[in-house]
Parts: sequence; C-alpha cells; structure tokens
Amino acid sequence: MSTPPGGPRTRRFPLSLDRVAAPAKAAPARELLRPQAPLEQAARDKRQHSTPQGLGMDSRAVQRRMVDRLQADGIRNPRLLQAFGTIPRHWFVDSALVNQAYEDTSLPIGLGQTISKPSVIASMVELLCTRPGLAPDAAFPLGQCLDIGTGCGYQAALLSCLARRVVSIERLRDLHLKARTNLDRLRAGLPGWQDVRLVYGDGMLGHAPNAPYDTIIAAAGGAALPPAWLDQLAPGGRLVAPTEDPRTGTQILTIVDRLPSGQLQQATAGQVLFVPLKSGTT
Ligand code: SAH
Repeated sequence: MSTPPGGPRTRRFPLSLDRVAAPAKAAPARELLRPQAPLEQAARDKRQHSTPQGLGMDSRAVQRRMVDRLQADGIRNPRLLQAFGTIPRHWFVDSALVNQAYEDTSLPIGLGQTISKPSVIASMVELLCTRPGLAPDAAFPLGQCLDIGTGCGYQAALLSCLARRVVSIERLRDLHLKARTNLDRLRAGLPGWQDVRLVYGDGMLGHAPNAPYDTIIAAAGGAALPPAWLDQLAPGGRLVAPTEDPRTGTQILTIVDRLPSGQLQQATAGQVLFVPLKSGTT
C-alpha cells in the first residue's frame, strides 16, 4: 500500500473564495481560467491525507487485488473468491495495520493472537468445500460449520458466506467480545450477510448443542485432535486442523473425513504455522 498513514482527511470543500479565484489584482487572468486547479489540489490532498480507515476509497481495489492473487495462486471455488471479495478484512484489524490488511500475511489482533493469512484460510476452506460427502449442487458447501478460534471473527465471517450456519468458539473473552463488535459492524454494513453464532468457551470440547457438523475448521493447533471434534463430525463431513507432527515437532495440516459408514479417514497436507490450541477459558 502506498497510501501514507495520517489523520482524518482535511476537507477543502467548499473552497473559500480566495482559493477559487485569487484577487484580480494579485493574480493574472490566465490563472482564473484553470477550472481544474481546485480539482488538482483536491487530488493532492487525497494523496497526502488518508481517511481514518487508512485505505479510504482505494480499499475495494486493494481487496480486489487480494482476490486476484488468491485466484492466481490456484484457489478455484468462485463462491469462496466472492466471499474474500465481500468481507472487508480491513474492518477486522487494528487501525494501525489497516494498510497491510490485504497483504497475504497474518497480523496481530491482540493477546498474542493473529488473524490468519488469507491464502491459508482459502486453502483450508477449499479443502472443506471439496469433501467427498458434499453434493455437487449443495446450496451451502460448508453445511453446518464449526469454527474453532474465532479471534477477530474474520474467518468466521468468510465461512458464513458458504455455510448454512457457522458456530464459532473463542476461549479468550476479550477476543470473543472484539469479534462480536466486528460482526455487529458487518451486519450493519453488509445487508444480507448471514450472521455467525459466537460462543465463548473452550473449543477443545467442540460445541455439542449444535452438533453434528458437516465441516470443522481450527485456527489453532495442538499435539493431537481433540476427541470431541471427531465425535461431533457428521457422516460425510470433513475436519481441517493444524496438528503437531510427532516425527518433526512441526505443525502440519490434518484432514479427517467421516465416511458415510461412520469410519474416520485421515490425511495430511503440508506444513503450517498456527498459534497453539489451549484448553480452558480466560
Ligand atoms: N480465525 C481467527 C484466527 C485467530 S488465531 C481470525 O480470523 O481472526 C486463533 C485463535 O484460536 C486465537 O484467538 C486463540 O485464542 C484461539 N484458541 C486457541 N485455543 C482455543 C480453544 N481451545 N478454544 C477456542 N479458541 C481457541
């Protein structure tokens, strides 16, 4: 982003008379015949002063470029790409980080946690959308979805564009409340966006009241998959979560499918780096 940080944009309109037309004595007549001059000044002002959002009028274009990058990197699902183009990531990050909101990077959201990298979220959601149990014409490819680790709520907001219902759990109260505020803003600013059920609790226990889930996604990784997640996975459902590779101690992405027969089938997909999955609430 090249937009410089700064305070609220200085409003120059309506222009005072002395700026539109300099006193006849002081300025040559040719100066008065330059109707573009105030417009040029306004454009200069716009470059020099960012809005409180930092991205201002440019945010749509920057967001569009992020979606193009995801597509160029191999993300194919049109509804997923549309979701990335719909949910404004810059609403979910601290105002000091707004200029980096559409870079493919994780960013701090407070309490030592991070909003996940767009490309990682996209790959994980695409894995969920290609689960074997999914009917090709499904209106909601994620079905009933459980999101572990709400954080600032960005991923939950994306998921809800593709799910019949999203239940999202966070163990840190302050982040749970932050997500609530962020999603309130989304509800007000994006009419028609489908709300998320936010739960404050220990996601290692899943969320039994809304189980079973067609899809489960975790944004934090532990040594092993909590048994509750597997118990709450519906037949035909898929879980995608980071877990520790016992051989190397590094995190890998684990995919678990519950076959229609009820059997579980596990696979792995590459190395990842997520914050730790912790038990209990704070
Ligand atoms: N998806 C989030 C990413 C947040 S980072 C976003 O879009 O912002 C991962 C989150 O998982 C952190 O907020 C962390 O507090 C949370 N977390 C870790 N262990 C958890 C647990 N047992 N239950 C619920 N949340 C947990």
